[in-house]
Amino acid sequence: MTAAIAAATEGACVTIYERNDRLGKKILATGNGKCNLGNLQLSIADYHSDNLQLVETCLAKFGTNETIAFFEKLGLMIREKNGYLYPVSEQAAAVLDVLRMAVERLGIKVVYDTKVNHIARRKDGQLEVGWDVEASDRQSAKANNRQSAKAVYDSVIIACGSKAAPKSGSDGSGYKLAKQMGLTVTPVMPALVQLKCQEDFCKAIAGIRADAGIHILNGKKIVTEERGELQLTEYGISGIPVFQLSGQVNKLLREGANGKLVAQIDFLPDVTEAEWQEFGNRRIEAAKACKDMTVEGFFTGMLHKKLMTLFLKMAGLKTNAMVKDVPRKQLMDVFSLCKNFSLHIVGSNSYDNAQICTGGVSMKEVTGSLEAVSVKGLYFAGEVLDVDGRCGGYNLQWAWTSGYLAGKAAAGNNPVKNPVKEAI
Ligand SMILES: Cc1cc2nc3c(=O)[nH]c(=O)nc-3n(C[C@H](O)[C@H](O)[C@H](O)COP(=O)(O)OP(=O)(O)OC[C@H]3O[C@@H](n4cnc5c(N)ncnc54)[C@H](O)[C@@H]3O)c2cc1C
Repeated sequence: MTAAIAAATEGACVTIYERNDRLGKKILATGNGKCNLGNLQLSIADYHSDNLQLVETCLAKFGTNETIAFFEKLGLMIREKNGYLYPVSEQAAAVLDVLRMAVERLGIKVVYDTKVNHIARRKDGQLEVGWDVEASDRQSAKANNRQSAKAVYDSVIIACGSKAAPKSGSDGSGYKLAKQMGLTVTPVMPALVQLKCQEDFCKAIAGIRADAGIHILNGKKIVTEERGELQLTEYGISGIPVFQLSGQVNKLLREGANGKLVAQIDFLPDVTEAEWQEFGNRRIEAAKACKDMTVEGFFTGMLHKKLMTLFLKMAGLKTNAMVKDVPRKQLMDVFSLCKNFSLHIVGSNSYDNAQICTGGVSMKEVTGSLEAVSVKGLYFAGEVLDVDGRCGGYNLQWAWTSGYLAGKAAAGNNPVKNPVKEAI
């Protein structure tokens, strides 16, 4: 939609093909229904790509300020909360509405329920004169009717999204279209997604939320780390810090780190290891002098009860044992588990649960206006490209940035001017 609006504003006649019966379904699910559409702290450090330099160049042309100006021009009121941008109404539908209304005002044609299956350069003798776009509507696809409509265009922008959240329409078909045109698609994997762990005891601690530090170890080496609200689930770990780590974890698993990846969790991230050991020793000293202090009583209130119960079990301690009778080492093991609790990562949840994907159409094969270097008139925008960002508005920012740049540039190839360009 951003690409279409940018192109139409430049005077191009634009058609959007949408396989759903409405536009922008995914936007409604963003930011827990509030749509975190950008971030005041925009930095290249918040992105992954096979060509970060080009991502940076694009963001410098159309970044946070340009996004705010773009949406305000469309009529959206934006508010900022700790740097995160949302519509003032905190309704994702508002973002979709202003985009939809601009699409209408600009006279952009939308062909609903129609999936693009094939694109090809149109030849007139030796000359390449445009694009054939072949699409089938839902009815004919269901009936397996191979008759599909063809139309001709001066430029094509592929903005099909990734494979994440396929219920919203993005089924990875953009990658197929890019491959048809000879472009490289780097390995695509789910990201901003929950991680699955091997340990059976996950079920016993499911439901706990805690502020925690998480280090990902590949063998003995720390490869990445995050801090934030961790959620323990039946299958493993979730929450924003886990989402942030998940893309890199999936890449490592794909590269063969299976069986070697460990999430080391620190449930007391504000206390250093040395301080914690010292505190543990002091507390044990005091408790040992106490005749009737049970292990359960001694550890009560330190962490969530379900976690403590597990840690006591892991340290081989009985809840009703007397602290004075238990070896110091066993008690210290429980203190250690609070700061170094390990879970073995075996994978992630599927594309169905992922917010985005890592990988995609190589950024090494497109120009600063997101046009394929090898195929004139073919542009890309959004998540179909090998660009993914952290949680915090960075992925939608990339969608707006790339859409705007691709749309504006593609319009330059379009000799037919759109008479309603003054609509915004
Ligand atoms: C639950 C959830 C929450 C999220 N929250 C945030 C957030 O708060 N902030 C943020 O920055 N990002 C968020 N994201 C990520 C963000 O939504 C995406 O990065 C962004 O929508 C990508 O935009 P896109 O236009 O590239 O792809 P999409 O939004 O996926 O749009 C692609 C469109 O193309 C259509 N399509 C696909 N293939 C074809 C075809 N062959 N023919 C015709 N039509 C086709 C699809 O139906 C779809 O409408 C979230 C994602 C999810 C799933």
